[in-house]
Amino acid sequence: MSAHPAVLMRLVASAYAAAEKAGAIVRRVLHSGELGIVEKTGANDLQTLADRLAQQSICASLSKRFPKITIIGEEELTAEEVREDLIESGQAEAVLQMGCPAEYKDLKEEELVVWVDPLDGTKEYTEAAKRLGFPAGSQRWRAESDGSQLLSAARWLLDNVTVLIGIAHGGKAIAGVINQPFYNYQLGSSADLGRSMWGMLGLGAFGVELQDVPGDRRIVTTTRSHSNKVVTDCVDAMEPHEVIRVGGAGNKIIQLIEGKASAYVFASPGCKKWDTCATEAILHAVGGKLTDMHGNAYCYDANVQHMNSAGVLATLRNHHYYVSRVPQSVLQALKTG
Ligand code: AMP
Ligand code: MG
Ligand code: MG
Repeated sequence: MSAHPAVLMRLVASAYAAAEKAGAIVRRVLHSGELGIVEKTGANDLQTLADRLAQQSICASLSKRFPKITIIGEEELTAEEVREDLIESGQAEAVLQMGCPAEYKDLKEEELVVWVDPLDGTKEYTEAAKRLGFPAGSQRWRAESDGSQLLSAARWLLDNVTVLIGIAHGGKAIAGVINQPFYNYQLGSSADLGRSMWGMLGLGAFGVELQDVPGDRRIVTTTRSHSNKVVTDCVDAMEPHEVIRVGGAGNKIIQLIEGKASAYVFASPGCKKWDTCATEAILHAVGGKLTDMHGNAYCYDANVQHMNSAGVLATLRNHHYYVSRVPQSVLQALKTG
């Protein structure tokens, strides 16, 4: 470890530990069967106890160690004392051991903005809970005999869930951490549950293996629960060989990095800065690109509007092709601004 790791490295190391703790909270709430679901703007915009506790945990943990950083979380929570057991004070050693890229060495705490999505894919999280028989049958989760069957029933829904912590400087997403709390669940109770990955511009991404989509196939990944005609028209305009509909912005960016999809196409203003800051940083760290539907970059300053109102288009390769295919009608519907 370097004697005095740069603030950015210490922040990512703390964010990594905080994301792991948040992932554990997300698992624990599911297992408890008491999801505490609240509708925010409607039935497709939900908040659960896991979203609330995970955000409290991440924000309190980071602001305790880095009091001058601006932290913006998805959930609007009442100001209350955060329980001591929710505070994570650990830091990932593997991050602290890495050298900081020269251009970020002297960044100051007060220049950094952290965007937190404590649980991305909440809709799918609640659906998985329902399929698993929660809350009424929560004992069933613990019964090993039918555990694997129940797990496979909710299989890919649980993969949709991630915890996202993005770090921005000068309006640019420069680093991010993603925790996928249910990764490996299909291997049964003996496997380690969950995984974390992180990335930084100039360093690359860690905890995830970069793979290309086999052949030249255009596999488009998009929303499964927030679709409309503009969204589907835009997907069709890409002339995809295959379309995958899954939940979560974090999950879809992981699909791009792992070669399961070639483009994330979402012609809707529904995604917010906390969905794209961490994911953009990690994708850009491995040479990919995330923009609006016009091909313009998003800004992650603390004072920007939260909505990504001109949509989200993300790729590992051939970004220009996908931008060039966006129909005029979509560009009209999703103006930059
Ligand atoms: P999805 O691909 O539908 O899971 O969306 C990715 C992220 O954007 C998730 O955090 C969703 O909650 C959010 N999102 C997308 N569309 C909407 C919408 N119409 N209303 C609220 N949140 C949305
Ligand atoms: Mg989200
Ligand atoms: Mg969320």
